[in-house]
Amino acid sequence: MKIIMLGAPGAGKGTQAKKIAAKYEIPHISTGDIFRANIKNGTELGKKAKTYMDQGLLVPDELVVDLVVDRVNQDDCTKGYVLDGFPRTIPQAEALDKALESMDQKMDYAIDINVPDENIVNRMSGRRACVDCGATYHIVHAPTKEEGICDNCGGELILRDDDKPETVQKRLAVYHEQTQPLIDYYTEKGILKTVDGTVDLEDVFKAITGILGE
Ligand code: ADP
Ligand code: AMP
Repeated sequence: MKIIMLGAPGAGKGTQAKKIAAKYEIPHISTGDIFRANIKNGTELGKKAKTYMDQGLLVPDELVVDLVVDRVNQDDCTKGYVLDGFPRTIPQAEALDKALESMDQKMDYAIDINVPDENIVNRMSGRRACVDCGATYHIVHAPTKEEGICDNCGGELILRDDDKPETVQKRLAVYHEQTQPLIDYYTEKGILKTVDGTVDLEDVFKAITGILGE
């Protein structure tokens, strides 16, 4: 099963993608996580990506597409995968479709998690990310057992620089301009499914499993 998660920054793509990956036993591929790991490791790709990410801008398509196409060609992806944060532009979606076509494959679902802009800034200011393993929480909606400490690995939790309100506004503007057109793109392909992302995260997951099947 090959799935794309769509939605504004902070809509809950990562939260739901992790749950989908665990339930359906497929890899969770997050381009944001890949870039943050590269930044942490000080790679050339990380250095380039950081200059865009810090400003709330998208990393250029040519730095993203090959990376994802290589990743979905790895052995653990034969049963499928859930893409989180990719594609984010029409050229990325077209490049992915072309790559899949050349392997005689196609995407099964594009799940759009719908959350209005008003809710997003609040969500993002409450998001906390682990500096060590990248796990994400929310101070109200998905708190850790011990404040400021990652449940997963015991690492320190931080507010990501790009989750600060001024950068979130920029990211939302970029989302509407460059990523939202993908909703029409996947509607035309006949694979778009929309879920309400404003409800409790377990209820969002129920709506998603209702689409994907038990
Ligand atoms: P994205 O991957 O789309 O940027 P995340 O999955 O990281 O978004 O979610 C953004 C923040 O909102 C996180 O702190 C997460 O814990 C929280 N969150 C996710 N889904 C919900 C929900 N349905 N209700 C309330 N908060 C949520
Ligand atoms: P995310 O963790 O998915 O919110 O991504 C964080 C940041 O990484 C984004 O704001 C972009 O700067 C960058 N990024 C992640 N995925 C992509 C992508 N597919 N195309 C361009 N930039 C991306």
